[in-house]
Amino acid sequence: MRKPMIAGNWKLNKTLSEAKKLATELAQQCQDIHDRDIVIAPVYTVLSSVAEAIKNSPVQLAAQNCYPEDNGAFTGEISPLFLEDVGCELVILGHSERRQLLGENDAFINRKIHKALAVGLKPILCVGETLQQREDDQMLEILTRQIKGGLDKVTVEQMEDVVIAYEPVWAIGTGKTATDEQAQEVHSFIRGMLQGLFNQQVATATRILYGGSVKPGNVDGLMAQDDIDGALVGGASLNVDDFARIVKFEKQV
Ligand code: PEP
Repeated sequence: MRKPMIAGNWKLNKTLSEAKKLATELAQQCQDIHDRDIVIAPVYTVLSSVAEAIKNSPVQLAAQNCYPEDNGAFTGEISPLFLEDVGCELVILGHSERRQLLGENDAFINRKIHKALAVGLKPILCVGETLQQREDDQMLEILTRQIKGGLDKVTVEQMEDVVIAYEPVWAIGTGKTATDEQAQEVHSFIRGMLQGLFNQQVATATRILYGGSVKPGNVDGLMAQDDIDGALVGGASLNVDDFARIVKFEKQV
């Protein structure tokens, strides 16, 4: 019932020529895949060119962030309106690198979620605990705060366009993946939270992606879990063969 989504977060990588090449090759490799959503999130400067490269393919365009205003005196920022204007359909919000390196908090991320939804961009809300928080038994409290804060005043109807990504910070870019069972346990907890915050229908319909060192070698096991609906992929999305293999995960039942 939930359509799987595999999203590649290119982070601060790929110059214009590299981005066009990667996007073109990915579009070719994924030409006939329609039973899952395929998303790439390049840097702002190449969004237009990548949009052109993936035109007429199933690959969808996302941005890695946005500012919660339409336009105005916000030097250096970019708004969902401008992202939508160049062909973005989704936007990653609340990534742990932005929370940690740029001090973003849940209230600010929530403003971005509302602004993105207002212009028709689908937000991918990232949440996840640090290793210290997990070891200190604060994981569920942290996740609860991030999800409640990030989704504050989002309506049941708007939740149709919201995707959640559970990304344990200790697994991002470290080569350490949560085990299939660890990830499933948290995804199931998040789904339960959605039921409490919204209703059963939202809990059943919302896609929850796993992120944190997803590779060709571990994607099938993760995707076999009941509550894992896709992956947010960093490092492995920079290599076309690796990312295409992740996109073509085999669902074990
Ligand atoms: C990410 O940046 O969202 C991510 C999950 O990175 P990696 O796959 O490299 O761990």
